[in-house]
Amino acid sequence: MNIIVCAKQVIDVSEMKVDPSTKKPILQGVPQKISDIDKNAMEEAIKIKEKHGGKITVVTIGPTDAKERIKELLAMGADEGVLVSPPEKYDYYVISNLLASAIKKIGEYDIILCGEASIDMFSGQAGPRLAGLLGIPQITYAQNVVVDKDKVTADRNMGDTAVTTESSYPVLITVTKEINEPRLPSLMQILGAANKPINEMTADSLTDGLNPKVEMLELKGVSMERKNIVYKDDIDESISKLVDSLAKEGVLR
Ligand SMILES: Cc1cc2nc3c(=O)[nH]c(=O)nc-3n(C[C@H](O)[C@H](O)[C@H](O)COP(=O)(O)OP(=O)(O)OC[C@H]3O[C@@H](n4cnc5c(N)ncnc54)[C@H](O)[C@@H]3O)c2cc1C
Repeated sequence: MNIIVCAKQVIDVSEMKVDPSTKKPILQGVPQKISDIDKNAMEEAIKIKEKHGGKITVVTIGPTDAKERIKELLAMGADEGVLVSPPEKYDYYVISNLLASAIKKIGEYDIILCGEASIDMFSGQAGPRLAGLLGIPQITYAQNVVVDKDKVTADRNMGDTAVTTESSYPVLITVTKEINEPRLPSLMQILGAANKPINEMTADSLTDGLNPKVEMLELKGVSMERKNIVYKDDIDESISKLVDSLAKEGVLR
């Protein structure tokens, strides 16, 4: 099995603060990490490789420092990495085209794994667009995957229900967070990752000057405030007041 994992470097949104006066997110100094669900995609790739053998290649479109994030996935179990430096301006159209061109350059593949969405922009567009550009089938929102010789079967998470879906190879699968628990690499694996290759490509070498199709007009943060309501009355009375308050807020129906 030749498996490709698309993994995005994102800012750690849990560490992000919003400027209360401008309502704009403060992005400077916020730590970077691999998007959480892409680690689930990576874990699933490792499980498939452990059972069926093969090679795992991680592809990231991002700035030079994303190399350090790729090393984390190499430590988890990927065999090699590909880092594509993005053009100055990019959107979902540009990103999915760059991923498609990079993957065509990598060569043969059986399975492409993506997260269902990135944890920062969360558009869920890159995977389905990529499958379209490569002209291969896709299974989205997979909450479990069973790989056989000639076909892959996956349960698609539909909230209250799941749809069991089957596909031939090559196939692109987007995974959900529920699919697995990503492993933590050992110290030996972290040290060993330094010897694994990371090939670098530029956007210009892959495509002829793609321009974004949509324009981002504004990025606004959503600030959350605590109401600091403390219920000190008798326990039954407090529960009843809490339930009433939650119902008023629309949390309970
Ligand atoms: C108009 C516009 C302008 C933008 N300008 C910028 C900008 O200047 N700088 C900037 O950082 N972002 C910019 N973005 C955001 C960037 O285009 C998106 O992050 C990117 O298109 C992927 O979309 P997403 O994050 O919603 O990923 P999703 O579509 O939600 O991601 C789904 C999955 O696709 C894969 N994937 C997504 N992105 C990557 C990646 N980069 N590398 C590898 N795999 C990936 C992962 O498996 C991920 O889990 C812009 C977006 C728009 C709409």
